[in-house]
Amino acid sequence: MEVLVVGSGVVGATIAYYLAKGGLEVTLVDQSSPAQGSTGAALGLLYGVLSQKLTGLALDLRLRSLHAYDQLIGELTYEIPYNRQGILKLAYCEAETEAWDQLIQVRAAQGWPLIRLSPPEVSWSGINPTDLVAALYSPRDRQVDPRALTLALGARIRHLGGQIHLGTRVEMLQERPGGWVVHTSEGVIRADWVVVSAGLGSATLTPAVNLTPVLGQALELAWPCPPGQPVITHNDVHLVPLGEQGYWVGATVEFPGEDAFPEPDPAALQKLREQSEKFYPGLSQAPVRRAWWGLRPRPVGEPAPVVRAVGDRLILATGHYRNGVLLAPVTAELVQALVLGDKTPGQLK
Ligand SMILES: Cc1cc2nc3c(=O)[nH]c(=O)nc-3n(C[C@H](O)[C@H](O)[C@H](O)COP(=O)(O)OP(=O)(O)OC[C@H]3O[C@@H](n4cnc5c(N)ncnc54)[C@H](O)[C@@H]3O)c2cc1C
Repeated sequence: MEVLVVGSGVVGATIAYYLAKGGLEVTLVDQSSPAQGSTGAALGLLYGVLSQKLTGLALDLRLRSLHAYDQLIGELTYEIPYNRQGILKLAYCEAETEAWDQLIQVRAAQGWPLIRLSPPEVSWSGINPTDLVAALYSPRDRQVDPRALTLALGARIRHLGGQIHLGTRVEMLQERPGGWVVHTSEGVIRADWVVVSAGLGSATLTPAVNLTPVLGQALELAWPCPPGQPVITHNDVHLVPLGEQGYWVGATVEFPGEDAFPEPDPAALQKLREQSEKFYPGLSQAPVRRAWWGLRPRPVGEPAPVVRAVGDRLILATGHYRNGVLLAPVTAELVQALVLGDKTPGQLK
């Protein structure tokens, strides 16, 4: 069975890897290079256990995907920056800790540990304890370098015999009996199945989904970073330790105006920087090595992500919004089940 996967971001690359590993003939195409879309901008937080959701499908998908990650990274056997030190969530007022006891209990029953720490107990993380009220430590949440992961997936797909065509833009999908004719900038490709995982580009390939871009900015700071640090987070500002390289700080969430494409707001980036000073005094003075922005694909009128069959042998796997890196493995599992006709419980639709 031949499957064409459109889009070599983290979602498409993970899908193609799972399908190739399962013995299917896979072709992955991208108009650009791997991880140039939203994936190239992501911080790679695998924020599952600390999610505020207590139960439900969205949480279930997060935890299933998180569970798959340690094994996935092990299978890839490439040098992929992967932080296993967990995520530390900070609280600077009592109100921010209100839901913590319930969350700790519910997660314990689900088999995921969460540990409440007092300010002196977070000293191992090197954090500034001034004004800190408490912290919630999740040893099982993770962080991965999304670009390195996507490149490693590409290498494994090739190793398994899969084809990757870069610089190949998919222009039109045409149904044929039992499959698809895919018109690309480089010619026609025939496939039994097509998976559209082209991020924001997905909506131009099928009217079955509507997506809006939500902009995110982040920066890399040159600042001494002790070894063995967890990711630190407060109020949606994340500090990602990169070893000797310094830190990533991100990310803003900037919605498009009416009819306007979102533009990065310098004030939002500045605010992000100032907020990071809470974690370490002086961090806002650290030299900026680089700053960047990207566009998250957010579904309109339905929850993220959008993973479903939208026609005979045509699957949409897109709209992962703020959690595409986290949700890539579970998305690949769902797509694999759809292609193989396995109606496993847990499918989205
Ligand atoms: C600043 C920022 C921080 C983020 N942080 C996190 C985080 O910490 N954790 C997390 O889980 N998520 C995070 N995200 C969200 C995450 O980046 C996205 O959800 C995820 O990358 C989506 O992956 P994707 O593969 O679907 O899309 P993309 O990465 O956008 O990939 C789509 C690919 O499809 C290709 N394509 C498009 N149209 C066509 C076409 N017609 N033909 C061929 N190819 C095509 C594009 O070239 C692109 O390579 C963040 C996003 C941003 C912007």
